[in-house]
Amino acid sequence: MEDKFVETFSPEETFELGRRIGQEAAAGSVFTLIGDLGTGKTVFTQGLAKGLGITEPVNSPTFTILQIYEEGRCPFYHFDVYRIGDISEMDEIGYEDCFYGDGVCLIEWADLIEEILPEHFTEITISKDLEKGFDYRKIRIKERYLR
Ligand code: ADP
Ligand code: MG
Repeated sequence: MEDKFVETFSPEETFELGRRIGQEAAAGSVFTLIGDLGTGKTVFTQGLAKGLGITEPVNSPTFTILQIYEEGRCPFYHFDVYRIGDISEMDEIGYEDCFYGDGVCLIEWADLIEEILPEHFTEITISKDLEKGFDYRKIRIKERYLR
């Protein structure tokens, strides 16, 4: 499948992209989010959560790596692994039940845990281009198949 590129010019547009993807996401799918601090990973995540039917606020969990939302049409497993020290912390959390479960998984900073990513996932990479404005984001959506 070809990579898809989307350009957004405001946080609202990034949220809306996430919402549409969340609406269509199949239970059991895994999304990874790559991008520097402040690019909009959490904004996208909030949109995706909305698309799944979650109305409670979704934020980046600062001290917990995993936040689970049961309110939508399927469970939503939101990982933010920015502060992970060692990959064994993922085992302690029981990540396999999430990655290979019946919900939708989203992993911010997934490049920090490459070695345990599942065979197939949708990788979303967000980058800035300051020449195109402070609120400009380029978002690449890529189906990835490992192994
Ligand atoms: P991350 O989770 O990647 O660290 P956040 O989603 O927490 O980043 O923050 C992104 C910040 O960038 C927010 O303050 C948001 O308002 C701002 N922003 C500006 N333009 C955009 C855009 N096009 N898409 C997403 N966020 C944007
Ligand atoms: Mg974040």
